[in-house]
Amino acid sequence: MPSLESRINAAQRFVDADALVGTLAALVRVQSVYDPGRPDGNELAAVDLVAGLLDEWGMRYRRREVAPGRPNIVVDLDGRDPGPILVFEGHTDVVTAGDLSAWSVDPFAAEIRDGRLYGRGACDMKGGLVAMLYAARALQLAGCDYAGVVRLAILADEEGMMLGAKGFVADGELEGVAAAIVCEPEGDRLCIAQKGAIRMKVSLQGRMAHGCMPEQGINPISALGEIIVECRRVEAEVRAASPTHALLGRFSLTPTVALAGEQAQGNVIPARAELVLDIRTTAE
Ligand SMILES: [Zn+2]
Repeated sequence: MPSLESRINAAQRFVDADALVGTLAALVRVQSVYDPGRPDGNELAAVDLVAGLLDEWGMRYRRREVAPGRPNIVVDLDGRDPGPILVFEGHTDVVTAGDLSAWSVDPFAAEIRDGRLYGRGACDMKGGLVAMLYAARALQLAGCDYAGVVRLAILADEEGMMLGAKGFVADGELEGVAAAIVCEPEGDRLCIAQKGAIRMKVSLQGRMAHGCMPEQGINPISALGEIIVECRRVEAEVRAASPTHALLGRFSLTPTVALAGEQAQGNVIPARAELVLDIRTTAE
């Protein structure tokens, strides 16, 4: 059997860079921003574009809607011999373009300047999606000279509730999978570790009172302040007890939302206060 390197080289000859850039531009021009207020505010047109490409290439796929107008596509590219399943994952949705005046280009024109393609989703992650599609195409043209299965997971709703990823798992597509490469951007580096994330909502119930008689009330804002101060102490304690992770850095505990009182009611102790904590854990 030829070496891994020679097989990689053989496949690389089949990467059609011009077609890849053309497909990426076409995909960036599709506004696959989820917006239930727009009839086409979903991934459908982007998924149809990918499906058309797969049809052209003669790659069979499984297509299933995880929500109306929001399909997942899964492709299995079987190697010559049986072996492990390796998943490559990409998503078809993008986040909103936000404030258009802050852009120096049209976010959905896929303009190329100095060899770079600009637009919403060019980086996160239609670039990665197209790269994995054309890599698979190159493997196919080179005769799928490997053992195992390359599975492409082209998923919806990554930027929202992860309906695509949840649907992928619920459909049993992850069963027997040996490894997965998520083609999200990571500064051109392979990312092999990830922080854990906990979002904690703290609700404080006090007792409302007029500001001139504070002793009749229980002020949840004072308690909120104590918790915020305590967060800094806990963060320092955990950091002192756990080493800095080489890739992930340090544990963090960050208050991100604090809500209490009404702006027009400066003379009232509010009944409730709310705090959101964003907690990021690192592996040992
Ligand atoms: Zn992404």
